[in-house]
Amino acid sequence: MRIILLGPPGAGKGTQAANIVEAYNIPHISTGDIFRKNLKENTALGLKAKEYMDKGLLVPDELVVDLVKDRLTEDDCKTGFMLDGFPRTVVQAEALDTELEKLDMKLSAVLNIEVDQNLLLQRITGRRICRSCGATYHVSFNPPKEEAVCDLCGGELYQRDDDVEETVAKRLQVYNEQTQPLIDFYKNSGLLVDIDGQQEIEAVFDEIKKALEEAN
Ligand code: ADP
Ligand code: AMP
Repeated sequence: MRIILLGPPGAGKGTQAANIVEAYNIPHISTGDIFRKNLKENTALGLKAKEYMDKGLLVPDELVVDLVKDRLTEDDCKTGFMLDGFPRTVVQAEALDTELEKLDMKLSAVLNIEVDQNLLLQRITGRRICRSCGATYHVSFNPPKEEAVCDLCGGELYQRDDDVEETVAKRLQVYNEQTQPLIDFYKNSGLLVDIDGQQEIEAVFDEIKKALEEAN
């Protein structure tokens, strides 16, 4: 399976990604996670990316594209992959097409998770993430058993710096302007499947599984 998860910030891409990679045994490639890991390790890439992330802007294409190209040539991608948060611009989608052609790989499906804009702000500002294992929670919609503690590993939960209300508005605007055009891009290639992201987490996953059963 070679899958792209498309959708606005807060749609549930990371949440569903965790389910998908477990069920299909493929690597989860999240460009946002890669940047956050780099930042934690204080690398030059992480510090550069932070300048954009904190403002709710996209990191420049040239910094993202090479990183994903390298990642796709790693051994674990031979059996498939799940891209989460990439591509985010038409330039990135075209670069991905070129790279996949070179690698003689074809995408199986592009899952477009749809959620109303007014719900996204609530989802994002209530998001909490485990500092140790990266699991995602929501203070009201998907709370951990014990407040601020990860159910899976006992790690501490934190709020992302860019998940505050001021930055979220910018991120949603950037999505509408730069990422939404990808919906037509992938509709034209016949790969797009719309998924209703406003259902319970498990129901969204059921819809995704059905869509993937029908994909090649
Ligand atoms: P994305 O990766 O698309 O930005 P996340 O998967 O991190 O989105 O989800 C954003 C927030 O919404 C998280 O706090 C998550 O727990 C919550 N969430 C995800 N899917 C659902 C859902 N189907 N119903 C309610 N809350 C959800
Ligand atoms: P995410 O974890 O997907 O919500 O991404 C967090 C932030 O990382 C985004 O707001 C961008 O600043 C940056 N980012 C992640 N993926 C990309 C990408 N494909 N292109 C540009 N910037 C990205």
